[in-house]
Amino acid sequence: MTSPQTADVVIVGAGPAGLTAAAELAPGLDVVVLERESAAGGIPRHSDHPGYGVRDLTRFLSGPEYARRLVRRATGAGAVLRTDTMVTGWAGERSLDVTSPQGRYRLDARAVILATGARERPRPARMIPGDRPSGIYTTGLLQNVVHLKHRGVGRRAVVVGAELVSYSAVLTLTHAGCDTALMTTTHPSPESYAVFNIAGRSPFLGLDIATRTRVSRIIGKPALEAVEVENLDTGHRRIIECDTLVLTGDWIPDHELARAAGLDMDPNTLGPLTDTALRTSRPGVFAVGNLLHPVDTADIAALDGRHVGEPVRAFLRGATAAEDGLRLRAEAPLRWITPGIVRAGDTAPARRRLLLWTDELIRIPRVTVRQDGRVIARKTLPWPASPGRVFRVPSDVLDGADPRGGPVTVSVRG
Ligand SMILES: Cc1cc2nc3c(=O)[nH]c(=O)nc-3n(C[C@H](O)[C@H](O)[C@H](O)COP(=O)(O)OP(=O)(O)OC[C@H]3O[C@@H](n4cnc5c(N)ncnc54)[C@H](O)[C@@H]3O)c2cc1C
Repeated sequence: MTSPQTADVVIVGAGPAGLTAAAELAPGLDVVVLERESAAGGIPRHSDHPGYGVRDLTRFLSGPEYARRLVRRATGAGAVLRTDTMVTGWAGERSLDVTSPQGRYRLDARAVILATGARERPRPARMIPGDRPSGIYTTGLLQNVVHLKHRGVGRRAVVVGAELVSYSAVLTLTHAGCDTALMTTTHPSPESYAVFNIAGRSPFLGLDIATRTRVSRIIGKPALEAVEVENLDTGHRRIIECDTLVLTGDWIPDHELARAAGLDMDPNTLGPLTDTALRTSRPGVFAVGNLLHPVDTADIAALDGRHVGEPVRAFLRGATAAEDGLRLRAEAPLRWITPGIVRAGDTAPARRRLLLWTDELIRIPRVTVRQDGRVIARKTLPWPASPGRVFRVPSDVLDGADPRGGPVTVSVRG
């Protein structure tokens, strides 16, 4: 191994969050972005449909065009992008082990930003019984095969999930000449926005969506021939012939580096625990994007990247964070809340929003915030809390919290 290289800021992951952080920090700082894929851009690179860039760039772009713009912004600001370059571990507090086609090296940074994103759980992690045939994809894999490798898939698909990303999978299948025979969701109604659900069931896509339904068996050797699906309420099972199965959603953060560092982890998001300035528990190591909130839209990930700029600069100037902070917790049916810590004197979270995930649909959510048995805020929100997408709560619900008090709990009811 050669002698260590150095940079002011090293960003791991060149998706929307990492690239936007790079564009924010490169003016005046030596910024290096490391990306394991052969091109920068993250998921949008192979998500070839419109819907990107609304909140960060005030544009409505396709994924690949959005990715190209973010790359141009980062390099235009002076950041160095190294692709085919994977961070495999830590050599010190802010020092990374890097593997690239040129060999292995150590990169010492004054600050590190983890922007490694999230992925859909693959088949083995979902514990679906049955055969182990070919023809099974996550949306990410499907879009890689179709849009980047330009290869075909099958002719007739079942899509597991009915959230935003599931419709993205359907569009990709249509593009590849594969019909979607059935979409399944375990929820009583599709998780996506009503407009997608109506469009999906319209003659244009003509989707058949089976609610309260799970895939109970996979059938076919060596290639997929069918799946058995079960209605969760009646127990009725039926066989759907298909040669392609797409497992969508069910996200897990790409958290290996965060865990390897021994950072404090959030047991509910499964990503690193951060405060509103996006600091992790290790000084000088920050985290942004879907690593923290699996999974939100790309513009929100990008705006994390913008938000982290000032805290990173402050750290490099020698500023330190208050030692203690208030711990935020979410109560069922909310599964998680991020950021998880609020420190006195810190900035509000990105976009002044707390991000939460719900396991139940609540059309008109009434949010209650409690501390030490006392209600500190109540708010009724005009947007639903829906499974399959992030539920946003204005962070001013924390205004009445006592910085010296106990944990703050956020709950929601219809
Ligand atoms: C099928 C699909 C459709 C979507 N459609 C939309 C849409 O229409 N509109 C929208 O706004 N959002 C959409 N999204 C969500 C959007 O893509 C994500 O919110 C966004 O990509 C998150 O950005 P990120 O930077 O956090 O992570 P990512 O985009 O996942 O980027 C993380 C990057 O880190 C790299 N990386 C990870 N580990 C390492 C390592 N150890 N070393 C080096 N590099 C590493 C990865 O290779 C990756 O490039 C969609 C997502 C999917 C899957």
